[in-house]
Amino acid sequence: MTDASSNTIIRVALDVPLDRTFDYAAPGPLAIGSRVSVGFGPRQMVGIVLGHATHSEFDLKPARPIEDRLPPLPDDWLALVRFAADYYACAPGPALFTALPPALRAPRPFIPARDPQYRLTPAGRDWQPPRRAARQCELHAALAASPLARSSARAIAADAGRRLDDWLAAGWIEEIDDQPAALTLGPLPALTVAQQQALDQLPRDGFSPTLLFGITGSGKTEIYLRRIAETLAAGRQALVLVPEINLTPQLESRFRARFPNTVIACLNSSQPERARSEAWVAAWQGRARLVIGTRLGVFAPLPELGLIVVDEEHDASFKQQDGLRYSARDLAIWRAHRAGVPILLGSATPSLESWRHADAGRYGRVELAERATGAALPAIHLIDIRRLPLDDGLSVPAIEALARCRDKGEVSLVYLNRRGYSPALSCTDCGWIAGCPSCSAKLVLHLRERQLRCHHCGHHQPVPHACPDCGNPDLKPLGQGTQRVEAALTRVLPGARIRRIDRDTVSHRDAWAEVYQAIHDGEVDVLVGTQMLAKGHDFPTLSLVVALNTDGGLYSADFRASETLFSQLMQVAGRAGRAERPGTVLVQTQLPEHPLYQALCRHDYPGFAATLLDERKQTDMPPYCHQFVVRADSEKLADARAFLGALVAALPAIDGVCVYDPITASMVRLEGRERAQVLVQSAQRGPLRRMLAELTAQAPVLAKPYGRHLRWSVDVDPLEL
Ligand code: ADP
Ligand code: ZN
Ligand code: ZN
Repeated sequence: MTDASSNTIIRVALDVPLDRTFDYAAPGPLAIGSRVSVGFGPRQMVGIVLGHATHSEFDLKPARPIEDRLPPLPDDWLALVRFAADYYACAPGPALFTALPPALRAPRPFIPARDPQYRLTPAGRDWQPPRRAARQCELHAALAASPLARSSARAIAADAGRRLDDWLAAGWIEEIDDQPAALTLGPLPALTVAQQQALDQLPRDGFSPTLLFGITGSGKTEIYLRRIAETLAAGRQALVLVPEINLTPQLESRFRARFPNTVIACLNSSQPERARSEAWVAAWQGRARLVIGTRLGVFAPLPELGLIVVDEEHDASFKQQDGLRYSARDLAIWRAHRAGVPILLGSATPSLESWRHADAGRYGRVELAERATGAALPAIHLIDIRRLPLDDGLSVPAIEALARCRDKGEVSLVYLNRRGYSPALSCTDCGWIAGCPSCSAKLVLHLRERQLRCHHCGHHQPVPHACPDCGNPDLKPLGQGTQRVEAALTRVLPGARIRRIDRDTVSHRDAWAEVYQAIHDGEVDVLVGTQMLAKGHDFPTLSLVVALNTDGGLYSADFRASETLFSQLMQVAGRAGRAERPGTVLVQTQLPEHPLYQALCRHDYPGFAATLLDERKQTDMPPYCHQFVVRADSEKLADARAFLGALVAALPAIDGVCVYDPITASMVRLEGRERAQVLVQSAQRGPLRRMLAELTAQAPVLAKPYGRHLRWSVDVDPLEL
């Protein structure tokens, strides 16, 4: 027992998966949101102060404040994370630590680096770097245009830090105080009439979600840039969220070129931890005025937030699939609401959820129907392959079109969403198919690496010389992946320069820059690749897109598959004919009459969305109902199912809430564990929330008998069932 006489009792959240706080004794008053270092079992951990008490039933261990001069985490940030934890049914401790950057999760002080701004001195203006040193010239030109932050300089040249130090020593540049200089804008293109009208229609004040529905290449990004400029000029911060794959060096440099003297913080999960922590703290301290991030960027603290932009708002990468299973888009909307600021959701193929909100008038809708460059939309044609022979997946009309394109000196893109050589390897005699030992999945043949690989768990093994079941040496690859199509193209287009782009060839940012350069330098005739190529990249000489093996999306058990397929095809089609050349898109299909393909050929997202919404309404599917899924996995499927069965039996009946029976997951085995799930849905959120609360209260108790072998989790508003 401890009383507050000698100490202050604090309640702290720790990164442990328990739905509670822990009491400690603090040496003095510590504000809510402070970080403290505490002992927990044998470990020293970070705790975040969430409350105070005058009395505790525990023997209290001491908490030490962390001396790094960072202020307590702000109230609005704590409120955001607490909302997320509550809404997505995650314990508050782990939620807080998911939202914090790595450096603040450790019980150590974090001293952010300074990010000074520099400008040229008169001597520096007269001086010129050697003409051969292109990066130095670029850096000098940027400084000549406006003061430049050290962090922005690093985006121009990796060695900019050293260069700036040299120039500082030589007296060519000088440091200016941290006071943000007046906003400087880079070169501005004149807006098209359509863009100007769209911009005029956007709300400027208060919470006002707006769907910016604009075809690929219609200049949505330019609209974001204008609204961000207004926000920055008004002394507020802006947050831009983009899908994982879109946060490329090209996108970053487009923003930096527009806002040369603005401190811009980039946040994504693949950057070095230190850089991410620096960017996060810069946003928190208000030094960074513009934050560009992937989904985790939604948790950047922004004391002067004035605008949120979510680009490609339909993209599935905004949803986190483990731990705190949040949707960054939906949290962004909550955040904009709470902060009372406008939020702009951009897409050529909005999610049906957002589209319906716009139909119902809850969101504004602003449309951009033409390409900003004046280029025509590509003509989309279907190649009916029901009666055509295929050569490694390629039809004759497709091959001829690729050859013509190459002869004209233009670039083409062959799109198929499967990496590797073939998605399966099978025995021609007994029908054996290579499967993953840990997952219920086929192993993908990677011929170049001479491996069979599981794309779900990372298992890999050498390609067998003969069938392990019957000894037959004749093993046959089934279906096509990017490697196989690359090989086929090399054969049918002799001499063509072919580049494959997928996660196997482009695994980091520098690889992208190199590919980009190669295309711009005219060193590529045909690009073969996955979805990676479909996203937001601008290849000016690309005039033909061929899409292969897309019918699978129409047979899928996942009710969202056709929505996803349509948006991927629209995106990839948008790569064709961006500049002055009209583009062509060819889609090989066995189902040319399918409404999805018919709508695609008409570039008719609204028509397609109306059809899908109608279907969803008939079948009571989202967005006409709300859902959550309880997943359980164990070494034995029976345990997972038994636990879920007991859980379902223990739940009370709540009016309007439908709790389905447990089913095995569509992929039963994953990484050696067997999985089952329960779907719960309702047309109303209120009753569904009550059911969720019942469930999260019961589940830990019911899971106890199964010990640590059983794991369970809840996914609210799941994207995958
Ligand atoms: P979206 O984000 O809708 O796909 P972007 O903003 O990337 O479109 O614009 C597509 C292309 O059009 C880009 O190359 C961009 O530089 C160009 N662009 C956009 N707005 C204009 C404009 N007002 N004048 C000239 N080019 C523009
Ligand atoms: Zn066999
Ligand atoms: Zn596997």
